[in-house]
Amino acid sequence: METVAIHKDVAEILVSSEQIEERCKQLGKEISDYYRNKDAQLVVVGLLKGSVPFMADLIKHIDVDLEIDFMDVSSYVGTDSTEVKILKDVENPVTGKEVLIVEDIVDTGKTLQEVVGLFQSKGAKDVRIATLLSKPEGRIIDIKIDYIGFSVPNKFVIGYGLDYNQKYRNLPYVGVIKKEAI
Ligand code: 5GP
Repeated sequence: METVAIHKDVAEILVSSEQIEERCKQLGKEISDYYRNKDAQLVVVGLLKGSVPFMADLIKHIDVDLEIDFMDVSSYVGTDSTEVKILKDVENPVTGKEVLIVEDIVDTGKTLQEVVGLFQSKGAKDVRIATLLSKPEGRIIDIKIDYIGFSVPNKFVIGYGLDYNQKYRNLPYVGVIKKEAI
């Protein structure tokens, strides 16, 4: 096993790169089995920027024909709802397609609830969700997540796509940031 030097700002590693690699293989197989005999075109939509490493590793293990696309959204928490602003929309129409959204982490579930609604209003045939990480303790919206890589405790995590002030996305593992680095 290759030893990865732990970044000085990381307090502990929660999910190693080997665990992520193994889980991507398992999820890729599950996803392939589900979509294999569907008639409609599968489009895998990554939510920028955090999903990029997961999306890249995951799709290599999906062995059905697929398109990829990306969307960038930012969510603003209002008084009694979350507004999602689209910073970059998908490039190709999703009407009649099987959409699989790929996310880095689901916390409250509000962002994904809005994004799923957007795809439904665009006429997607079906919308499913794959997330690398889930924080069940943070959940406010009871959203159905079809594929979860790992459940993590309610701590601020970084690495493998996840940032703090745009840093640490390149770490090959998921870790907890040290308090003094915040
Ligand atoms: P939700 O709408 O589910 O509360 O928000 C999910 C989004 O919040 C994620 O896409 C991510 O951008 C951000 N987020 C939630 N928890 C964490 C975390 O522990 N670390 C990082 N880097 N981002 C997080």
